Amino acid sequence: MSMNSYSDPNLLIFTSQITSLYTHIALKTFLNSKIVPASSTAPTGDIYTYADVELTSRKVAAGLHKSGIKQGDVVMLLLQNCPQFVFAFLGASYIGAISTTANPFYTPAEIAKQATASKAKLIITQALYAEKVKDLAEESGVKIMTIDSSPDQNCLHFSELTKADENDIPAVKINPDDVVALPYSSGTTGLPKGVMLSHKGLVTSVAQQVDGDNPNLYFHKEDVILCVLPLFHIYSLNSVLLCALRVGAAILIMQKFEIVTLMELVEKHKVTIAPFVPPIVLAIAKSPNLDKYDLSSIRTVMSGAAPMGKELEDAVRAKLPSAKLGQGYGMTEAGPVLSMCLAFAKEPFEIKSGACGTVVRNAQMKIVDPDSGASLPRNQSGEICIRGSQIMKGYLNDEEATERTIDKDGWLHTGDIGFIDDDDELFIVDRLKELIKYKGFQVAPAELEAMLIAHPNISDAAVVPMKDEAAGEVPVAFVVRSNSSKITEDEIKQYISKQVVFYKRINRVFFTDTIPKAPSGKILRKDLRAKLAAGLPN
Ligand code: AMP
Repeated sequence: MSMNSYSDPNLLIFTSQITSLYTHIALKTFLNSKIVPASSTAPTGDIYTYADVELTSRKVAAGLHKSGIKQGDVVMLLLQNCPQFVFAFLGASYIGAISTTANPFYTPAEIAKQATASKAKLIITQALYAEKVKDLAEESGVKIMTIDSSPDQNCLHFSELTKADENDIPAVKINPDDVVALPYSSGTTGLPKGVMLSHKGLVTSVAQQVDGDNPNLYFHKEDVILCVLPLFHIYSLNSVLLCALRVGAAILIMQKFEIVTLMELVEKHKVTIAPFVPPIVLAIAKSPNLDKYDLSSIRTVMSGAAPMGKELEDAVRAKLPSAKLGQGYGMTEAGPVLSMCLAFAKEPFEIKSGACGTVVRNAQMKIVDPDSGASLPRNQSGEICIRGSQIMKGYLNDEEATERTIDKDGWLHTGDIGFIDDDDELFIVDRLKELIKYKGFQVAPAELEAMLIAHPNISDAAVVPMKDEAAGEVPVAFVVRSNSSKITEDEIKQYISKQVVFYKRINRVFFTDTIPKAPSGKILRKDLRAKLAAGLPN
């Protein structure tokens, strides 16, 4: 059978220009644009021009070098959205160091796992979270640096970096295949793994979104882009921050999401581009305060990271009539953007509800039968696969998982089920992989199952997603008690809560006699999902 592969006919050839990520986003060329950080409770109003960002990032690069960070070393960014995140990421990339980004709400154990697996040499965080990494620092020797007040004298301070002379940057030769970012993702199966994104990969991805005469281009130099999604997730880091820096737009940084502050800031700073996830779109659609604010400056609302239902799409279109609402589809391992809504740049363009756009340029997409691997024609659902320079190099120290995800022909298998229609538009209809998405955040069932099984009163367990209006999905557990154990639902929930960030908490526990498994021992998650779909088991 011949291969049905889809690619944008408007190819953009830029491969020969690929340099380091820092060079690609070429800060110097856009001296007039601004970055405006604003905290979620009270806008700080600090404004940085691109010249400020460039200078501070170079100082940070020199400062990191001075403090012993070398090319190839890993720095963990454990931060809420703030300008220092931007300086640290750019500074590290400048000297060929690698940033591993993590959620500051993680528990100490979750942070320690990622910091240890990635061999982080330095953790840059806020004083508020420094306590969480104190034990790790004592045990492993990793250095801790805070961006605000120092909680004790054992912590370094970010000003050590910004005091450095920007001319003291070491001469490093960056190879396009060198890793620059190391976000963690569980991918199609198992525990969270380090996703190795190279300079070439991120340069390609940014260019696919905003370079050249781009029919998929979703923002310009004149735009004001709202950066409210957490920068530790690749969606915000790449499709918001790096793309905005590349085009020279103004970036409004919100420390965290809060609906009223968000609307105030949109009105005040005349935000034009609003990259969101479905729960934020929902919060806007349902806000009783929506009429109090003028949000008419928004010309594009982009939703991604999780499925968005037709009702929600229609509701927000009615509430924000001057904005175009479209979806993008990303996956950390894919660099992350696979497809984007064409309507962001094409006029007129009718957006189909539920469509996730068309494949990005300089990439190929195909849909395969998950059982036979055969390539499927249009309008038939199968596993979405993507190929191109933007995808990850592989998982850190995990060849087996890499080979399971990227086949020998270079196709990355997403674990998502979808089809491509007659207009080249992609629709995602299901998820083959284990992953659970709570408000766009990843929950890896294998991580929770390992904790459950480690409990002496539990002999077996499986975790699957359950639909939830506010979160999209929540994790629920099927549990087999050990002989004679009377462990309760609440005890299990509390046991897990102590070990994980809030969105990984188990929402319901269903006791059962056995967990359905294939002869290979693989949990038959589909059966459990079907059980839930048929009505709650107890
Ligand atoms: P992450 O690596 O955290 O970005 O998660 C990637 C996964 O999120 C994808 O493989 C999809 O399962 C899901 N996802 C991302 N964007 C969309 C979308 N627009 N519609 C449906 N699911 C999505």
